[in-house]
Amino acid sequence: MTYDTENIFAKILRGEIPNTTVYENEYVLAFEDINPQAPIHILIVPKGPYTDMAHFSLSASGEEQVAFTKSISEVVKIAQLESTGFRAIANTGIDGLQEVPHYHLHILGGGPLGPMVNL
Ligand code: AMP
Repeated sequence: MTYDTENIFAKILRGEIPNTTVYENEYVLAFEDINPQAPIHILIVPKGPYTDMAHFSLSASGEEQVAFTKSISEVVKIAQLESTGFRAIANTGIDGLQEVPHYHLHILGGGPLGPMVNL
């Protein structure tokens, strides 16, 4: 899939659209989901132009991948989800019902989350 530079997360990363930032470093931005599906719903987004998880894991540098993975524990700590737990979801492609074509990891928590998948 070709990366669409006009997708909404690219605009957020360029500062063209506001966001409620939870955590940021050189490689990653994490912000609150605008339409939360749980009491805590945060999106972790790499700053590089990757369409989805598969693209990121194939093409991102080691530094980017390590920074992204480490950002999960930072976000979990900031959101105080360490003791109660959380769910991480990366919707990918058509069957995954991915809406925004820039890789993002949903971090959901703050209460029981129900079944993993509803088919
Ligand atoms: P996905 O279906 O995995 O691509 O999820 C995209 C997510 O982005 C949804 O949960 C939306 O609520 C969220 N979203 C869309 N626009 C914004 C925005 N401007 N700020 C924060 N979250 C957004």
